[in-house]
Amino acid sequence: TINVLRLDHRIGRDTRITTHVCLTARAFGASKVWLAGEEDHSMMRSVRDIADRWGGDFEIEYNNSYMEVIMNWREKGGKIVHLTMYGAQAHEVVDEVRESSDDILIIVGGAKVPTKVYKNADWNVSVTTQPHSEVAALAIFQHLLMEGKEFDLEFKDPVFEVIPTAHGKTVNVHNENRKLNKKE
Ligand code: SAM
Repeated sequence: TINVLRLDHRIGRDTRITTHVCLTARAFGASKVWLAGEEDHSMMRSVRDIADRWGGDFEIEYNNSYMEVIMNWREKGGKIVHLTMYGAQAHEVVDEVRESSDDILIIVGGAKVPTKVYKNADWNVSVTTQPHSEVAALAIFQHLLMEGKEFDLEFKDPVFEVIPTAHGKTVNVHNENRKLNKKE
């Protein structure tokens, strides 16, 4: 199981990037995103709505105590990776991470990451040694962790399903009314 913990969400300023963190986490094989910082009901609703339409069993949950998420994960025997430009190089540690446990929690930061996050991670991991983005770092790290298997993931029971084509757009739509009813 891969879960992602997004720290320090700010309503408004971070809405778009946290949405992208959630959708990227899902697309690359995470089953759940934990959100800390400000509780953003409308962003969570919109991610759930997208996940619902595109299939699979993705969850998103708010916990105002990110340390509780970290400690619970640790207690259950899972391992923790904190993505930071200061960490060990991703491609050098990813095999060790993958072999350490079936349950990996990947933490991405926000504006400022407290020292206790660094201390409680089993690995602080960087994707390149340059500053960039939580979305980019997450995608690349999940790709390395999954060894490319994310390209073959199947998302169960979708409403929308893209049929890959080099030109044009082909989307199969299944049972749209059922999902629309579920929302109401
Ligand atoms: N200035 C913040 C700090 O003190 O850590 C980081 C801000 S950065 C825009 C937000 C998040 O993107 C970081 O917490 C980290 O999770 C991720 N990130 C940015 N560059 C990264 C890199 N090269 N490797 C891994 N993660 C990175």
